[in-house]
Amino acid sequence: MTGLEDVTLDFLGTGGGRFVMTTQRRRTAGIRLTQGETRVHIDPGPGALVFSNWAGLSPQKLNGLIITHCHPDHYTDAEVFIEAMTDGTRAKQGVLAATKSVLRGADGIGPSISGYHQGLVRNLIEMYEGTSFSVGDLGITATEAKHSDPYSVGLRISTSQGGIGYTSDTGYFSGVSDNYTDLRVLVLGTMWPRGNPIHIHLNTDEALRILEESRPKACILTHFGMRMLNAGPEKEARFLQEETGIPVVAAIDGMKAHISDEITLLSPRKSDPPITIDA
Ligand SMILES: [Zn+2]
Ligand SMILES: [Zn+2]
Repeated sequence: MTGLEDVTLDFLGTGGGRFVMTTQRRRTAGIRLTQGETRVHIDPGPGALVFSNWAGLSPQKLNGLIITHCHPDHYTDAEVFIEAMTDGTRAKQGVLAATKSVLRGADGIGPSISGYHQGLVRNLIEMYEGTSFSVGDLGITATEAKHSDPYSVGLRISTSQGGIGYTSDTGYFSGVSDNYTDLRVLVLGTMWPRGNPIHIHLNTDEALRILEESRPKACILTHFGMRMLNAGPEKEARFLQEETGIPVVAAIDGMKAHISDEITLLSPRKSDPPITIDA
């Protein structure tokens, strides 16, 4: 794949759900995806503004903002990011892609981005399952999710380094894995550990089913709830890797996944050696 642009995923936050969000036991700042000059932020929850700047990933350089559903661990910093992306509201630019619940409100929740802010961007996209759009050279398709916000979606993103999938928040359902076949990396929101059934989210047992069905080249777990953090996400990742033979890592706050011919994981602690995955 030499000559193609590298792709980077910055895990600015790896926490999920109400209790991890409100305690900030893990951050809830979302994920930054970068390919060359194209920069997209996915699910900017509480802390996204602060930790983007902390990581040197200025929201002023964003070309796109994606909100997969109307829960605060995914949307709270969206309006501030829109102001940053539009040069402090002076330039009508950038893509905002979000669900109906986020943009217009639905089923008693939302909207969570004001009409004023929606009017600032150049391209406003209301995402449903199957909606496709592009940001720079990235091709993005919204995938089906089954979550308490009925308009929730996941994502499938085609990059110069292969497909990247993001389940966002969903329960397991028959056919979920069909959205995530032939991927280089699957970012799997795994809220709770093995043996802990959880409604409208995934636990490690369901993550295992999705991995066995979709067989990505590599998998990164994120969006951890309290029970997962108590059980140890690294332990759960090791279990999934042993069961499937697919490289699986548990993200930590500030981790960078650099995707080129191989995948290199860089810890925010400079003393930690990089981990290279041949995938
Ligand atoms: Zn969530
Ligand atoms: Zn949610």
